[in-house]
Amino acid sequence: MPYKAGERLPAERASRLGHLDVLKSGLVKTYRESFEDASPTTISFACSWEQSPTMGVPLPLVFGIDGSLQIIESETPPYSAHAFVKTALLRIDQYALASIDKDSPHPLALRDILADSALYHATVFPLRHVVRQGMSLYDAVRQRIFDSVVEDSSSPLHREVMETLKWIAYEKWDGKQKQLPLFECPHCEKTIATLPYDAEEGNCPGCKGKLFLTDMLGFHQEMAPDSAPETVATAYMSIHETLLLFTGVRYFWERKKEVLSNCLFVKDGPLSIRAQYSKLVNPIRRFLAFSRHQGYPVHLIGQEKTGAFADHLQLIGNNAPLQSLFIPGNQYIKEQIQHRPNRGAPYGKDTNYGAKVFVRISHYHQMVLNVPTGEYVENPTLSNLIGAERILATLPTVLSSRFEGALLPIELAHSVASLSTYPSAQILKIFAEAKGQKNE
Ligand SMILES: [Zn+2]
Repeated sequence: MPYKAGERLPAERASRLGHLDVLKSGLVKTYRESFEDASPTTISFACSWEQSPTMGVPLPLVFGIDGSLQIIESETPPYSAHAFVKTALLRIDQYALASIDKDSPHPLALRDILADSALYHATVFPLRHVVRQGMSLYDAVRQRIFDSVVEDSSSPLHREVMETLKWIAYEKWDGKQKQLPLFECPHCEKTIATLPYDAEEGNCPGCKGKLFLTDMLGFHQEMAPDSAPETVATAYMSIHETLLLFTGVRYFWERKKEVLSNCLFVKDGPLSIRAQYSKLVNPIRRFLAFSRHQGYPVHLIGQEKTGAFADHLQLIGNNAPLQSLFIPGNQYIKEQIQHRPNRGAPYGKDTNYGAKVFVRISHYHQMVLNVPTGEYVENPTLSNLIGAERILATLPTVLSSRFEGALLPIELAHSVASLSTYPSAQILKIFAEAKGQKNE
């Protein structure tokens, strides 16, 4: 179907012949006579926009988290495929923010910020037609995911991300030695697998097969013995972004809790973890509720730039008052955004650790944010959102002028995490093909 004209680009041209055939059809003709597109102003939404609070103090330390992923396939038989994943965590303080020209940031100023305060993780794992001596691809990917979370000993992240996974999985913040929930064993496929408290590796209590803590997340549940789908790489990237984010949180929690509550963590994408990987969601919610209760609220947002919520904001945002926000509840999300009946489990109950918030700041800046509430809330209000006042006070200081609704911490983290710029896709390809020939 040809694209219609947008605000910036002309319409795509369709072939004249195809055009005639379709218009001749009687069904198409009667359809065109009886239906027309609803204009945005004729769609009514019961949005309850409210004034953004104005009393908060901006947060002095801001972190951006982003990731990127590239699948590289060799062009010659056996057409092996590898997934390259990169994630990055970047720190910027208000001093650095103030020194950046937000309309046209100086490349050298940006380079200095990135060089001094960025941490990144890069890894690669096989997806298909790659063999490793004595190991199925299924086991090779499991081993590779475990090794990647442990990280190479030359990296500043060595063991840090693994410590964070253990911190979340065993809920180590409150000193109660919590057991892992039972998970599906990658060998006997029974949901009896577990590990002793604080362990990273062990054996299945039933079949005695080797277990990694990373198996708890369930990557193997979407893999075949000799291949892994690309969704495994997407899930790995998303999990690693989350672990990197919480590595920052854990660092301050264990050392300087008062600094933690002066940080804003800004993640690209929603605060959610899908399907079997969502085992981390409840522990994360419990930590965020616990830290708030202890008087050390964690300020954390995810920004959704694409998808149903971002599309919906395009419909409702322009009619919203400036400096206002709207927190949709369960019924509104299901009926107005997902266009489905309000039945079944409440929206996001198993997978999300942040509530959706539409925010309109100015004529140029409106965005979809996710803000945690701690324990799940079906119809959240402003007072449920952790640290909302300070988060909303910080947003104007981190807006980018280069794109509508863009946040500088995400833009900068993206420039570190972007695989298309560093290293180049061509280099990755040469690397993947060399590995393929050697039968890694
Ligand atoms: Zn087993």
